[in-house]
Amino acid sequence: MDGPSGSGKSSTARGVADRLGLRYLDTGAQFRAMTVWMLRHGVDVHDVEAVAAHAAEPRIVSGTDPLEPTITLDGEDVAEEIRSADTTAAVSPVATVPAVRARLLELQRATIAAALAEGGIVVEGRDIGSVVWPDAEVKLYLTADPGARAARRAAENGSTSVRSTEEDLLRRDAIDSGRTTAPLVVPDGATHLDTTPWTLEEVVDRVVAIVES
Ligand code: C5P
Repeated sequence: MDGPSGSGKSSTARGVADRLGLRYLDTGAQFRAMTVWMLRHGVDVHDVEAVAAHAAEPRIVSGTDPLEPTITLDGEDVAEEIRSADTTAAVSPVATVPAVRARLLELQRATIAAALAEGGIVVEGRDIGSVVWPDAEVKLYLTADPGARAARRAAENGSTSVRSTEEDLLRRDAIDSGRTTAPLVVPDGATHLDTTPWTLEEVVDRVVAIVES
């Protein structure tokens, strides 16, 4: 499941995984954990070579229970820190670095392979159907109007400013879509869903119907 921030991907992916008894992986959380490590170690996130030089160091572990997904960095729970404003501002530059993507791709493929042996997994991100697992049984691309996306994200973060949240989303979209390695694209063979008019439950119903069809 791919798409920009606030498209409803995370809630949908977790809801679908829960309904279908599948595991769940949030790859954005892994890029965020990588970013937390860089910020904590004083690495300039705009210095591609510096970020690349450290990309192998962080120990990132994702728990794949859709009802209680977890993320640890060097053994520490960083679920809250990965959502901080500082991390959010720095994550897209870090995610453009090829060495970061290669490192996380390895982790992501290992997690998917393990989960497939036990029934399956819903994976969400920006390059899942195009790069991480092009042979996925079902590929979805979720979008929503920028205003709707910003309102959802601002509500999640307890932020009062929908306007600044929208500016932040659009800035990250531009970086994610414009980068040369694994840009955000609609993957070949993906079903494109615009979630703007639907409630979460309606989106989950539609996706479950697609998976089961
Ligand atoms: O999904 P989320 O907003 O938490 O992702 C944070 C950032 O991580 C995105 O803006 C993007 O830069 C990066 N990302 C990525 N590829 C993925 C998942 C996330 O580049 N598969």
